[in-house]
Parts: sequence; C-alpha cells; structure tokens
Amino acid sequence: MCGTIDKNKSYHPFGVMLSKYETNEDFAFMFQSIKDLAKQIYNFDLDVHVLLADAAMSITNGFIKVFGFIEKRIVCWAHVERHIKDNLKGINKDTKHKIKQDLLIIQQATKPEQLNLAWTLFYEKWHDPSANPTIQNALINHFLEYFRKNWFGQFTSGWYEEYAKDFPSTNNSLESTNNWIKNESTFRELLPMKEFLESVEEFVTFWSKDRNENFITTKKFLEIPPIETHLWTLAFEWCKLNKRIIKLSRNDHVLYMFTSSEVSFEASKSMCKELLDKTHWNSFDDYKSQVTSIRYVKLDELRWESSVCSCVYWNKNYICKHTIGVAFNCKLTSFPGLDLNIEANARRGRRKKATEALVHRDSTGPVNPLMMTQNEIESQPEVDLQVSTAQGIISHALGGSSITIEKIHTNTSNKKRGRPRKNIQISATSIEENEITSDQPTTSAQALLKKRGRPPKSNHNTDNEISENAKKRKLNN
Ligand SMILES: [Zn+2]
Repeated sequence: MCGTIDKNKSYHPFGVMLSKYETNEDFAFMFQSIKDLAKQIYNFDLDVHVLLADAAMSITNGFIKVFGFIEKRIVCWAHVERHIKDNLKGINKDTKHKIKQDLLIIQQATKPEQLNLAWTLFYEKWHDPSANPTIQNALINHFLEYFRKNWFGQFTSGWYEEYAKDFPSTNNSLESTNNWIKNESTFRELLPMKEFLESVEEFVTFWSKDRNENFITTKKFLEIPPIETHLWTLAFEWCKLNKRIIKLSRNDHVLYMFTSSEVSFEASKSMCKELLDKTHWNSFDDYKSQVTSIRYVKLDELRWESSVCSCVYWNKNYICKHTIGVAFNCKLTSFPGLDLNIEANARRGRRKKATEALVHRDSTGPVNPLMMTQNEIESQPEVDLQVSTAQGIISHALGGSSITIEKIHTNTSNKKRGRPRKNIQISATSIEENEITSDQPTTSAQALLKKRGRPPKSNHNTDNEISENAKKRKLNN
C-alpha cells in the first residue's frame, strides 16, 4: 500500500500493489503507476523526493528508478524500535529499559550535526572495552555493534526526528490502514485471489468516494493540524507559567527558547546560545540533561499553526502547547473564550445528583396534558392565547408570489427574558458597582458572567432630571 499523510496524521492511500517477491522492479512499477495516474487523472506532475518506509532497499531502489533521486529517506522509527527490541534479548530488564530510553533521547532531540556526537557518547556510556566482559556486557557490546552497522547507513539513518522535521517519523497510520484491511475487510482470512481482488476493489472504491471534496462528511486532506479543546487548555496553562522566553535569530529564522516543564530554572540568553553552538559534552548523561531541559519553537509568522517545536508532543502531532503559547505571546492568536469559560464557570464542591425516577417533582414547566388527571386540567388557569396573524401577499421580484406570516402576537411575547427584577428601585451604588465592574478589563470568563440583555439605565440621569425639574419649579415659582 502507498499513500500520503496529512497534518491531522490521517492516511490517504494512493493504491494497493499485489506483489509476489517485492523486488526493485515491483516497487518501481508501483511508483510509476502512481506517477502516470496523477498525470492522467489530475494532469499533475508528481515529483516527490521524500520517502518514508521501512528500511527495505527494494523500496528505495524502486523509488529512485522512477523519481530520479532521493532527498530524504525516512526510516520508520516504529520498525527500528522493533529491531532494537529483538536485538536486546537476553539483557536484563532494567538495563534494557535504560538503553531504550537513551536511544529515545537520540531519536527525539538530536540535531543532524549532533547525531554522531550523541551516538559516540551513548557508545562510550554503554560499551565495555575490557578483554573479558561479563555475559551481560558482552550482550550490550554485541547490540552496540549491531546498531552501528545497521542504522547509520546512507539510506538507513533517517530515523531521528530532526532528519525530516516536518514529515512523520513512523508509518503507523499506514500500518493501521493495513490492520483495517486485515480485520474489517478480509476478516483475517487468507482469501483466494479472485475474492481478495473483489474485496480490494470494494475498499479502494470506498476510499475514493470518502475523499470526495463535495461532501462535508468525507475525509479531508488537512494542511493545518486541528487543535482540540484539551490542547488549548494545556497551552493556556503553559502561558500562565509565565516562562521566560528567549528570542534568538539563527540561519534566517527566529527561535523562541525556554526551559521545559521538567526543570525549575528559567532560560537565559547565554544558556540558549551555548546549547545551539555546543559541540562537546563530557558524557551522554550531560548531553541528555541539557537537550531535554531547553525547548525551542521555530515560529511561522505567516501561518502560526505551521510553527515547529522541538518537544516530543510536537513530533507526534505537528502542534503543541508551546507553538500555541508562543503564537499567543506574539499576538498571532487568542484563546477561544468559550472553552475557557466552561472551565472558569465550573463550580467547586459535590455535583448535584439527578432526581430519582418515579419521585414526585415540583415542576413548574409545561406538563404533557395527556398525563394530567381531569381535576388537574380543571384547576389549570385559562391562558388567553390571542394569536392574531396577518397574511400578506408579497409580489416576488422574479414574478412569483408567496404567503408569509408576518408576526405572531401572543400575550407572553413581550415578556422579558431572564430572572424577573426583585425590586425596581435599584440603589445608585449598586449600579455604580455594576458600571465599575463592566468597565474593568475583563477576561472572557468575566464577560460571560455579565448579565445578558441591555444593561439597566443609570439612575444618575433620573436623579439629574429630578433636580433639573426641581430647579425649573423653583424658577417658575
Ligand atoms: Zn512543544
């Protein structure tokens, strides 16, 4: 299967290839078919030079054969992790866990020029150079040799995040579509070729129809990552931490640097500069603590949602609380008021429980007449619903005519919304207080707590009017 991934991490398949041996030629055939169909259907010259797949050389060779050269050969990190797990067998659980955590640091935080340096430090940390190492250490030495041989080649070293920052590092979404085919479409049965082809035709047609742009409910190709309420809240919380943000210019772009949530100290200009320029660390642990304590956002001022962050969450989601927070600090976005209001208005204390069923309720709401007894119906006050309708015929601009009901008057239509006023004589001080609070800069939460509807008229005017009238009366006298 072959396809592409959007910024919502959704997989959009191009097609399925059936192959017996998965040779260079087979993959070249697949890429050529996609290229030809793009031209034939959309008149689009498909010219891609970034490939993400497992480490199979036949895929790389087939791709180069069709597209000429390869700029970035991303190796799926999930596949590398699987190989790491297989090759750590026999090593005790605790050590195995520590090695995996260290490799994760190399995978997540390394800048291209730092990969070899980080690896050297990692190698020094775990390698036992003695002539007769223990069985455990011999196994670790063996793993280190395996990893160095297999995952630092020309087309096999693209497994770390910084290698191709704006592209996915795993093809998990393809694998999940693969699982969907196995579980949902073929029900994990090994179908005979004819039946399998029928099934393939069915789901490929479904994928095609599900990408029809003319419908709201179909799958869209998102170029901007969607932001969920939870992430807005996390970003809001992060902004409240008021972290010191250092702005530094590097190679035609601006970096916004700050310390990560795991450390308590604030960032300084010298600290950030040192990290960017540093090429030497004393040990892997020294490297680890420094690269994980500082985060940076590369801000995209034209489309802030496309900003890039160095944190782990961004690598998986193309958006994080830091990119939102930095964009907010640079006045490129604001927090959606409604979501934060929900949080602000949530009351403390135990929640109200729902009334039990079949218990008498003192409801004042309308009652279904079918459920009332005759006595109850007789005791209901008569409501005079004087509905007067005026029917008017409006001649249409296009020559047609239509009947419209202009307005429906009921004796309740003029009733004002909201809680009825308790006392019409509102004291001047309470109005003044209201005015003061409404003039203050409000957070959106306060704005929501403000009463709805037109604010009551100030009594000051009435007082003035009264005094003016008194003056007039005096003059008249
Ligand atoms: Zn981040």
